[in-house]
Amino acid sequence: MVKNEFGDFIPTANSEPQVRAAGGYRPWLMSLMKSRPPYIAPDLDDCKGVVYAEVISGTWAVKCPFTGCHGALVAEPGEPYFCPDCLNQENNFKPCNVVFPEKKEVIETLLLIRPKPNRNWVVGETMESLRFENAAYLAKVGKSK
Ligand SMILES: [Zn+2]
Repeated sequence: MVKNEFGDFIPTANSEPQVRAAGGYRPWLMSLMKSRPPYIAPDLDDCKGVVYAEVISGTWAVKCPFTGCHGALVAEPGEPYFCPDCLNQENNFKPCNVVFPEKKEVIETLLLIRPKPNRNWVVGETMESLRFENAAYLAKVGKSK
């Protein structure tokens, strides 16, 4: 895990206090499902298809890819995605495998220079683009990094 000079990092699901309090990603996700009608319990090992993790306001998360759904969920490497909002209905109610970018640590290093609300990365966004944005931001706030 990459940390900046303030010990700050880009959390995944299991570093979030409410997820840890529930016993980790899977128990947390299942408790979320149990709290919402129609209370379905997906088989999290029976995945179909993939979704991609992004950084949204300083956290690794998946934006729901399914039609008409605007859900998003914190993501954990090696754990599946299942949307508590649309129940992955468009995916036959099956969870999806989550793909993290190969350059996860480089992305984290580049984003940790920024204030938390500005820590965003979308699939396909290049390291050059992140560096360019960082340079523009640092020039604006008058830092020479
Ligand atoms: Zn959804």
